[in-house]
Amino acid sequence: MRRSLLETGHRCTGQREAVHEVLWGMRTHPTAEEIFHAVRARVPAVSLATVYKALEAFASAGVCLKLPQEDGPARFDIRTDEHHHLKCVDCGRLVDVEGPPLHEWLAAIDTSDEFEILGGRLVLEGRCGDCLSGKPALA
Ligand code: ZN
Ligand code: MN
Repeated sequence: MRRSLLETGHRCTGQREAVHEVLWGMRTHPTAEEIFHAVRARVPAVSLATVYKALEAFASAGVCLKLPQEDGPARFDIRTDEHHHLKCVDCGRLVDVEGPPLHEWLAAIDTSDEFEILGGRLVLEGRCGDCLSGKPALA
């Protein structure tokens, strides 16, 4: 469900709202820079710093997820419900994957009594269809 920015208790500036709308419209797990380019098309005066600050504020308020990447800049996800990702090791593309809820995965995993699992996200690595077929990646 889409959470209102007002619910988060953050001051809503027009630019911040534009960042949120752009992020809402992008289901591609974009980087801050990709979001910046999309926001700038609508709000030419916006700065990269403003976009970064807005994204950090959204992430700490739980409005979006910040997904740190080992091999590049963090990606942002407007979907905050429990879900998992497929990551292409060639082009870095990150896509949502549907599967059983995490507790069903965990039931099959031997977890020690000395560790309480609170949650987590799976990132399954592989090659996307475009990379498998040799098509150049779009993003
Ligand atoms: Zn790929
Ligand atoms: Mn996602």
